[in-house]
Amino acid sequence: MSYLSNTDPNIYELINDELKRQQNGLEMIPSENFTSPAVLEALGSVLTNKYSEGYPGKRYYGGNQVIDQVEETCRNRAKELFGVAHANVQPYSGSPANQAVYFALLNPGDTVLGMELAQGGHLTHGYKLNFSGKYYHSVSYGVDRETKLLNYEAIREIAKKEKPKLIVCGATAYPRQIDFSEFKKIANEVNSYLLADISHIVGLIIAGTHQSPVPYADVIMTTTHKTLRGPRGAMILLPKVEDRLHELYHSESKRNLAELIDAAIIPGLQGGPHNHQTAAIAVALKEAMTDEFKNYGRQIVANAKSLAESLIENGLELVTGGTDNHLILVDLTKTGLSGAEAEKLLDEVSITVNKNMIPFDPRKPLDPSGIRLGTPALTTRGFTENDMQVIGKTIAEIIKNPINESIKMEARRVVAELTTAHPLYQELV
Ligand SMILES: *Cc1c(COP(=O)(O)O)cnc(C)c1O
Repeated sequence: MSYLSNTDPNIYELINDELKRQQNGLEMIPSENFTSPAVLEALGSVLTNKYSEGYPGKRYYGGNQVIDQVEETCRNRAKELFGVAHANVQPYSGSPANQAVYFALLNPGDTVLGMELAQGGHLTHGYKLNFSGKYYHSVSYGVDRETKLLNYEAIREIAKKEKPKLIVCGATAYPRQIDFSEFKKIANEVNSYLLADISHIVGLIIAGTHQSPVPYADVIMTTTHKTLRGPRGAMILLPKVEDRLHELYHSESKRNLAELIDAAIIPGLQGGPHNHQTAAIAVALKEAMTDEFKNYGRQIVANAKSLAESLIENGLELVTGGTDNHLILVDLTKTGLSGAEAEKLLDEVSITVNKNMIPFDPRKPLDPSGIRLGTPALTTRGFTENDMQVIGKTIAEIIKNPINESIKMEARRVVAELTTAHPLYQELV
């Protein structure tokens, strides 16, 4: 980064500081990951200079011969990798992508049924302060009070009562599998669209360790920067572009689903696509087509199970008693620490996690009763089950002994040993 270090030493230093933080700590926020240097190169390319409002072959600006090929390549890879009929790769990120799906399928005030934020959903699944809760009539489902699992019978009852036009499934803090086939049955019974938001678990779906929504959902949305390991961004995927035509609320004409989604992105919500981002997504999709990626996806789950086992053995309580995906929700209620306190303590020894609400949490979002841990980023660094046993013990010791300085010293030593054994971004130093 010689140009950057000359032009702006300040920002250059900060980027280097962040690189060191990522290299020297244990990144355990389940929505985070490390992209490959190839993805970073595409992101830092001259493609950021180009305006290309529209779609390949139908642009509002000249000079898009190359950009058309970039976007076509990205779309084709997405279609091939997921086995879907249509892909829109232009959403700036996951939240605007969900907004586009709502804009395409709903009229303002229509009913949307999504998972409650406090129980593991996402802001865009109907939270009252989000566009999804302000402009639409949002109703929610949660998990079962006893098992903390999705209860499809209970969701069915809510759907029958509320008659949503759209059901959103997918989560940010649910440690178990989501059964898209059950959601589809419910959506069919109440004649509703089904949106599967697979932002967190997309990498597991590609690896075959989680059921795919492709046979069931009408629309699939995924971010590209979580388990998919690409740049920040999102894609909207359509398993089928059926003949059934749908009415766009602000238009007299009827369109198929693909036309509706594309029109919702532009002119509905966005202007020029971020072409450097599109290129970087294409690179990540190519990487995701390899056996190496499938191994990584399987290892994420093996690591999460190993970590869960170690946390339990060392005395912590997990929501649902474990995990079968990439994340773990620790219930700190009996430890005497809040989620915010645990997050801060672990930060002191360079273990990065995030505080999180647990289902039916009596505490507030900024200081909830849980922490959320995930294994995707560490798996990218090459961590395996044995490392997870060590990390689980370390985390539990810190939480059980919050004011013991020698335990913190030992934790820092363990973190240094593990990060040295699994180096990150050596090519960037
Ligand atoms: C991360 C996430 C989003 C939003 O993505 P952003 O890129 O942060 O806007 C939407 N839905 C789910 C389930 C997510 O996990």
